[in-house]
Amino acid sequence: MKGSREFLTSNGEPENQEFVKEIERFHLERYEKEQSGELKELLNSINFSVLESEFSLIAEKSRMDKNKFNFIGREKIFNLEKDRREGLGFKRIGMYDPGANCLAFDIDGLVFAAKDNNFNKKDFFLYLVCHEEAHATAKTECVGLSEFEKEKEDSMVVTTGYSKYFIIKDVNKKVYDTELLKPFNEGITEKIAREALDSYFKKTGISGENFKKRLENGSNSDNLYGYEVSFVDTLIKRISVDTGVLEIDVWNAFKRGFYNGEDLLGDRELREFWKGMFGEEFIKDLTNSKEGRHLFAIQERIKNWKDPSGENKLSKFFKEFLEKK
Ligand SMILES: [Zn+2]
Repeated sequence: MKGSREFLTSNGEPENQEFVKEIERFHLERYEKEQSGELKELLNSINFSVLESEFSLIAEKSRMDKNKFNFIGREKIFNLEKDRREGLGFKRIGMYDPGANCLAFDIDGLVFAAKDNNFNKKDFFLYLVCHEEAHATAKTECVGLSEFEKEKEDSMVVTTGYSKYFIIKDVNKKVYDTELLKPFNEGITEKIAREALDSYFKKTGISGENFKKRLENGSNSDNLYGYEVSFVDTLIKRISVDTGVLEIDVWNAFKRGFYNGEDLLGDRELREFWKGMFGEEFIKDLTNSKEGRHLFAIQERIKNWKDPSGENKLSKFFKEFLEKK
């Protein structure tokens, strides 16, 4: 089994490990090394060994080698500096930086949002850590880093879970980026995070009841990934109804894809399936949507979809597809 974090050259050869470490160190330099007192206090409220074992269990069940999975320990969780916080909202309070392979949190923003929403500060922090750990543990593959850094190529691509993140340099060396399948990937990430959170609460005996209720009531909301989760749930239901495969098995297949770097766009067989099931526009809309709320219209289409062939050909195809996994 492969590891969860892979660096390949444009030709598909493994990158030089020393070079990768050097780049990681360079990216890490940008974070404040000293964790603030408030961050330390929040980190102390989390039992990281329990959290790690819960994530390890999820990854292992999804056929990832648990010895290689990329859980971020408390020593690599930093304060998110002011100039790196873009925009507002919960989604910018925490981040996973795949280049530095660390997590960072805007503690002022967290305290403010917790107060504003009547969240327990520690539960809220734990929830955010779970979300970012889910990103970190996803299968990550970076292609073309050395050529990009040495200016032999003008683009590189980082795949984490289902999302594809392109970094492109133009003729004036200005860097642009774009991310495909972002909201879909966020929905899967968030559902995994909630599973880990749930079992963490159970294992540690912390009730977290209030926070769990808020998550359950948060569908169709921009915060707490309501739109994204609601979209993934609708897709799972739809596939389950049309194929007779249990919802839990469909969900497990999505999780395996997330932990094994399944290419929803590149796999021809899969592409044909989506196209046949939900129409040509489905992949395009899903790929290019940038925000969770953009998924709402696609979600409605999926809900109302009827197999035009009437022969259940697609159901048969997907059933076989799931059984192969
Ligand atoms: Zn996220």
